[in-house]
Amino acid sequence: MRAAVLHEIGQDKLEILDDVEAVGFGPGRVRIRVRATGLCHSDLSAMGGVLPQPAPFVPGHEGAGEVLEVGEGVTRVKPGDRVVVCWLPACGACPACKRGQTELCLAGFMNAGTPNFKRPGGDVFGFAGTGTFAEEVVVDAGCAVPIPDDVPFDIAALIGCGVTTGLGAALNTADVEAGSSVAVIGCGGVGVSAIQGARLKGAAEIVAVDPVASRREAALEFGATKAVSPEELADAKQQITAGEGFDYVFEVVGRSTTARTAYETTRRGGTLVVVGAGALDDFLQLSMFELFFDEKRILPSMYGGGDVLHSYERTIALWRAGRIDLAGLITHRVPLTEINEALDQMRTGTALRTCIEI
Ligand SMILES: [Zn+2]
Ligand SMILES: [Zn+2]
Repeated sequence: MRAAVLHEIGQDKLEILDDVEAVGFGPGRVRIRVRATGLCHSDLSAMGGVLPQPAPFVPGHEGAGEVLEVGEGVTRVKPGDRVVVCWLPACGACPACKRGQTELCLAGFMNAGTPNFKRPGGDVFGFAGTGTFAEEVVVDAGCAVPIPDDVPFDIAALIGCGVTTGLGAALNTADVEAGSSVAVIGCGGVGVSAIQGARLKGAAEIVAVDPVASRREAALEFGATKAVSPEELADAKQQITAGEGFDYVFEVVGRSTTARTAYETTRRGGTLVVVGAGALDDFLQLSMFELFFDEKRILPSMYGGGDVLHSYERTIALWRAGRIDLAGLITHRVPLTEINEALDQMRTGTALRTCIEI
């Protein structure tokens, strides 16, 4: 079957190969025919070595498709079911799962060193244990989450990562208060989802911050009340908060420099929500004095910071009711054979979300 493979960390092009096989099928496992997958910034980060990932590997972790076959003991899904691929499956039994924080379950990472694919040249891994830039994936049953028939595959794919991450940051982690002021730094698919979440919660002011003009325009359509370039952020802070700083600032880039800006843009006693996935060796500097004296709350948000399956259901309910726009997030749509062009669009920041149709 066909898959897009990165041979070595640091390369920027994927090779489309037709000799790849999804491996690991057996008890408790599910084989999925991938139909749509989103291109998430974390895929680029893994390709570039910012996020830890063994190579060669098939990127992609935001996918949806239909179940082809199920292994022994799998009862939640059956062949023909439509599913979202969840890259962070909950075991249901660990302390984090029992507390309802399934986004902190580590069970899905236990197989991190196990290849998901093979080809004549050897083993191939799947990003985050999935690897959805492929016609088929074999995953744990917990990674195959059934979705209702009215949710198209392209929409379902977004729910698999970006939308869950961005919406959850506003709804679960920050729990934005009505009437508050919000700034969102980084307005790709995740940032725009955080904007939609802040709007749902009734934020009065939502400032979108992004260097790319087309993303700023898009952010306004998704609920931002103002959109500025990073250079204009200090002025916006002055104008909107009389210099005090925003009640909530979302960092959706994953770099210490933007996190530092976000910290400085948060008002004393306000909340900085860290959503971006950053590197192991990129350190955020804060002085012990400012940390104590300014009483700013720093809230990291992993995969939406809450019960993952509940987040999926809530997103579908909000989408069905027309309270959030998911179709509008898909600004580009390409077949798997054009994946490298799609990666370039992601790098230049012209895409909110690219849907790869497989
Ligand atoms: Zn668990
Ligand atoms: Zn992602």
